[in-house]
Amino acid sequence: MVIFGVILLAFIVGANATGCGFGYDGPLGPDHWQDEYGQCAGKHQSPINIDSSHVTRVVLPPLNMQGFFFTDGEAVLTNNGHTAMMTIDSERKPILSGGPLKGDYEFAQLHFHWGDDDTHGSEDEVDGKSYPMELHVVFFKKEYLDSTAALDHPDGLCVLACLFEVGDIPNPNYKGFGEVLPKIIQPETEAAFDVAPALIQLLPHELTHYFTYNGSLTTPPCSEVVTWIDFKEHIKLSHDQFEDFRALVNEESHSMSNNFRAVQPLGDRIVFYNVNYFEEFEQDVLDDNKVNADIEELVVESEKVIEEAVKST
Ligand SMILES: [Zn+2]
Repeated sequence: MVIFGVILLAFIVGANATGCGFGYDGPLGPDHWQDEYGQCAGKHQSPINIDSSHVTRVVLPPLNMQGFFFTDGEAVLTNNGHTAMMTIDSERKPILSGGPLKGDYEFAQLHFHWGDDDTHGSEDEVDGKSYPMELHVVFFKKEYLDSTAALDHPDGLCVLACLFEVGDIPNPNYKGFGEVLPKIIQPETEAAFDVAPALIQLLPHELTHYFTYNGSLTTPPCSEVVTWIDFKEHIKLSHDQFEDFRALVNEESHSMSNNFRAVQPLGDRIVFYNVNYFEEFEQDVLDDNKVNADIEELVVESEKVIEEAVKST
C-alpha cells in the first residue's frame, strides 16, 4: 500500500509515473476519495465556484514568469490513466514568482481536465458556469526541493488555472497537442512534442486579471497546500481541438472525459481578484467596460504628459 501511495503521489505532483487508485465515477469516484484520503473531506478544498460579485479586489505585485518563453528541452505528453500530462526535461526550468506568492516556484508539470462535450469539463466554475476544459500548470516552492516534499507545507504548491471556451478557428498555440494526443490514446503511453511548447503560449494573453485563493489538489490526496491563480481571460480552442482530448481512454478502457471534480464549499475563505494598479479600487461589482474605459483614460492622460515633457526639452 505504501508503494501504491507513492506512485499516486508521483502522478499528482509531476513525476513521470502512472496514477491509480482513484477515478471519477463508481466505487473509486470522488464521493469515496475521503475513505482513503482524509484530506479530501477538508474545509479548504478545490475546485470552487467563484462568485464574481463576492470577491475582494486587490492590487498585487506583478507575476514574474522566468523561462516561460523557453522551447528547449524535451516536452513529453503522458496518458497516465487520469489526464494528459506534460513534463519538460530540461536543465532550465520555468520559475514563477510575484503576485500572491512569497518566493520562487518551479514548474513541475501541466495537465488538463475536460468534459465529454462542450458544455462542461472545467473544475472551477465562475458564477456557476462550467467550461469545456481547464488547464492546470503546477509549480512547487523551490526551497522545498521537490513537489512531493512541498506537500508537507501550506505554501508548497501554486497552480495557474485557465478556463477554455469554444472558438471558431483552431488555436495555433495548441497545434502541438493535436499532433501528440493521437499518439497517447491508450493509458500508460507517452510521446514527445517536435518542439517543446513555451508555457507563455499556452496561457491567455491577459495575465493581470486573475482570481486567487487558497485551496487543495483536486485529486487525492487533496492536500490543502495550493495557492490557486485563475486567469480571468479564457483560452479558445476549436471544437475539433477538444475532440483530440476526448479521444483518450483510461485504464478501464472507457473514455477519459469528465475527469473533473465537482465544486467544493468555499467555507470561510476569501477569493481575491487582482486588478491593474491604475484601476479604480472602490467598485464592488466587476465591470469590464468601466475598467477598460478607466485604463484608456489613463493611457491618454499619460501620453499627454509625455508629449508636454518632450515639447519642453
Ligand atoms: Zn488538475
